[in-house]
Formats: sequence, structure tokens, C-alpha cells
Amino acid sequence: MDHPMPSAGRTITLPTLDYGDVTLTCPQWCTGHADHRPDTYRADIHHRGPDVVLAFHGAEIIAAGLSQSPFATIVTPGLGGPTVGASVSPPDRSLTPVDLYSLAVALDSYADQLRDLAEQLHALLVGGAR
Ligand SMILES: [Zn+2]
Repeated sequence: MDHPMPSAGRTITLPTLDYGDVTLTCPQWCTGHADHRPDTYRADIHHRGPDVVLAFHGAEIIAAGLSQSPFATIVTPGLGGPTVGASVSPPDRSLTPVDLYSLAVALDSYADQLRDLAEQLHALLVGGAR
């Protein structure tokens, strides 16, 4: 995989609505803040890592990547915060490592179901059933 890997300790300054210019240090995994808008609040600043994407026939099925909102003041479990999490979309939740492993298990199980469905479909088509 080709991941942009900025140098550690990169310091950036971002304009915000409530705190003016905010200077912060990005973690090594942060891909940058090119999409930052000056009309957002400091609490909305978030570091994002490169997405791990499952795509099929050009459509994105699910994406996950590291995420952290260093200035978040309201911490709602599952919606990110100052602790690094894995942002997963859908369902637009921030997952812990345990949650992420659970998701991987669920996807493994789903892949098995798809294989079963493919076998059933193949048998139907080969058997000439409708
Ligand atoms: Zn950053």
C-alpha cells in the first residue's frame, strides 16, 4: 500500500472561528488538514490517517482510518474525541481496537455468507431452477 507518511512532529497552524489561529503538532500518521475550513471550531479539528477502503465495482463499501480530535471537549463514546480511534464509515463511528477486531470478525462471517450464497446461486443456475 502507498501511504503518505509525513514526518513526525509536524507543526501546523489552522484558522478557527472561536480561537483564531491554532497551532498544533500532527501525529506521524496524520495525512494533513487540506480540507480544513476557517469557519469551523477548534474542537472540530481532527487528525486523520489514510483510509483503508473496501471498494467493489468502483463503489466504496466501507472505509476505516485513524482519527483524533485533540481539542474535543464533549466526549461521546463512539463519536471520537481526544483519544485516538479508528473512524469507520459506514456507520460513521469511532472504534476502539476491540471494536475494530469485532468488525473484522463480522466481515469474515459476512464473507462466509457471501460464499454460501454464491454456492446456492451456482447450484440453482447449474440445476436450471428458477
Ligand atoms: Zn493533523
